[in-house]
Amino acid sequence: MTTPLRTRALSTAAAIIGAVVLAIAFLIVIDHGIDSRKVAELAAQGVIAGDLPDQLQETRRASLQRRLVFLALGGSLALVIGLAVAWRLARRLEGPQETLREAAWALAAGHPLPEPLPESGAGAELAQALSGISDRLAEKEATARWLDAVVESIGEAVFVTAPDGAIRRANAAAARLTGWTVDELCSMDLASIVAEQDRPAFDFAKAAATASELTFQTRSGQVIPVAMTGSCMGGDDPARRGCIFVAHDITERKRAERRIRYLARYDSLTKVPNRLQFQHSLQQAIARARRAGRSLALLYLDLDRFKEINDNFGHAAGDRTLEILSERLISQLPKETMLGRLAGDEFGLLVENLPRDQDSRAALVTLARELLEQLARPFHVGNQEVLITASIGIALCPQDADNVVDLIRDADAAMYHSKQNGGNSVSFYTPEMSAVAVERLMLKSKLRRAVERDELVMLYQPKVHLDDGRVVGAEALLRWRLPGHGDIPPTQFIPLAEESNLISEIGEWVLKRVCQDYGDWQRYVPQPGRVSINLSLKQLRQAEFIPRCRSVFEDLGVSPVNFELEITETTLMTDARRMLPLLDELKAMGVHLSIDDFGTGYSSLAALQQFPVGTLKIDRAFVQHAVSSSDDATLVRTIVEMGRNLGLEVVAEGIETAEQLAFLRRLGCHLGQGRLFGDPMATDAMLAILLEQARGEKRYRLLFA
Ligand code: C2E
Ligand code: MG
Ligand code: MG
Repeated sequence: MTTPLRTRALSTAAAIIGAVVLAIAFLIVIDHGIDSRKVAELAAQGVIAGDLPDQLQETRRASLQRRLVFLALGGSLALVIGLAVAWRLARRLEGPQETLREAAWALAAGHPLPEPLPESGAGAELAQALSGISDRLAEKEATARWLDAVVESIGEAVFVTAPDGAIRRANAAAARLTGWTVDELCSMDLASIVAEQDRPAFDFAKAAATASELTFQTRSGQVIPVAMTGSCMGGDDPARRGCIFVAHDITERKRAERRIRYLARYDSLTKVPNRLQFQHSLQQAIARARRAGRSLALLYLDLDRFKEINDNFGHAAGDRTLEILSERLISQLPKETMLGRLAGDEFGLLVENLPRDQDSRAALVTLARELLEQLARPFHVGNQEVLITASIGIALCPQDADNVVDLIRDADAAMYHSKQNGGNSVSFYTPEMSAVAVERLMLKSKLRRAVERDELVMLYQPKVHLDDGRVVGAEALLRWRLPGHGDIPPTQFIPLAEESNLISEIGEWVLKRVCQDYGDWQRYVPQPGRVSINLSLKQLRQAEFIPRCRSVFEDLGVSPVNFELEITETTLMTDARRMLPLLDELKAMGVHLSIDDFGTGYSSLAALQQFPVGTLKIDRAFVQHAVSSSDDATLVRTIVEMGRNLGLEVVAEGIETAEQLAFLRRLGCHLGQGRLFGDPMATDAMLAILLEQARGEKRYRLLFA
């Protein structure tokens, strides 16, 4: 930058000198020429003669010499002045430029601008531009630092990767989660922290587009479950393209889920599968037997006079007896058998892989007798000797029945037969034993006429807010008031209705009845809260279900937002793919959706999250023992916590005692229903409660004091 400046300064100096020298030389030459011409003219005119021209010539030469000296002196002076001017010019130009040059280098090196910068003259504009650049750089740097601080302060692990998965950036939480340092992570691929078991199935593109659950392997080799969400960043600059992943440890949640599933499927006393799990396994075993062309047997075992042990020695002794007996049964069981506790003192035993073409009865009788012998051995509970026997009924699949419900029913009928024979014996099922089945058939034909004869009744059970005891709505529960039989509970006739198409007729009756009752209440109480209606799988599967709901709401002039549809966890998961769009449509209509009997199904919470449900109802069975069994207490606590974490409203069913209420309130469970607040009641009684509340009276004041 200096070279052109100096050249310019020197050429300026040379130009000044040259101009001065040329000007003087020009003057000398002109002047000299004029003099010579004048002398020549005067000599020619004879004005001057003789030596005068020579003298004049001499004078002229002397004058020329003087002028040359003058020229030399003038030239030197011009040189000095020129150089001075050039030096001054170069100094004036070079000074600010040097400062600006230093400033530019300082900026390039990321340092602050040196002070002061030229404020006037040619460099001022450049200085202004430089300080503008410096300000913008400082601003950008501050933003970058702020973004860094944001990423670092995120409690979840953040990984920023290139489009090929190479990690470019990770935060401190990522280092804590994986055990690798941030620098180490930045030389790794995202796939390389995915645990080996998940790596073959790991699809980077998919992970970058969705939320997923997978496992990471930490530096120390530990495998941890994580929930990860990915998203991609596009843009013109290829260097900036890539994906960002946010992950967090879900070990606790997974553990809680496993615990829930365990508690929900295994009997906490005997540690064998409970009825639910046993039925599930039985269903799978039936499918296996069908595929393999084999048979299976179900042994239904019921203790004789177990009630006497409870009554005579107390419940603790009863529990201990059950523990001892189940241990004995397990020790006696051959391979390919499975034991489950079906109810209080009833056990089921599943024997698989029996040949279909041979009679296995002899072998089964032998097994059953061995079990009875084991059970009949006396044992001690406390210092009491206890003697116990059992009755066993056996049904075969597919010979007697080919589905879970019928097989259990048949084995139960055979067990009842054994009991009728005095107990401590074994019977095989025969069709004559099925008095129950006959009853069922009769009931089914009567149910057909129930709707026409107006034998169905809708009851309402209040739902209460556990903060302050205010009534926030009700659950509609159906009864069949069969003359001569009293009220038949829905658990008995809904399955019958589901076997035929009656369920759609009954379902529609329920919906209309509830909407009518709700409309009636609204005439007295403007806001009766939300009323929930139970739905069965068959109802949801009907093509016309949603349009029918819509027209019932319209015809009866009630808004869908006042209603909640309860769907059991099992129903949801039976046909999840088909349920999802249906539920979305119902939700869009304004209806609130809830998962009923939560804890009794087999779904993972992650799977249930896909549904647009707003409420989780904890099954009554868990609430019942929450204050007496620590397992159930843990289960209820976990469900409440998980529900709350997922932003769901949690309702506890079947609250019967003040202790259960206190326990649930401590957990922060939102709503509750149960005998403590009232059994299911007729519509008028429910309206009375709503009116009472509208008048400002607090019905449950004492319970919430
Ligand atoms: P759910 O939906 O879980 O209903 C709760 C059940 O617990 C009701 O039994 C209720 O009467 C009972 N309950 C409530 N509080 C207590 C309590 O404190 N202690 C005890 N031991 N039980 C309590 P319910 O009315 O017999 O109904 C049984 C099931 O039948 C219901 O279970 C529901 O799944 C089904 N259901 C009821 N009404 C309908 C209906 O209109 N349509 C369909 N599809 N199913 C229905
Ligand atoms: Mg319900
Ligand atoms: Mg329920």
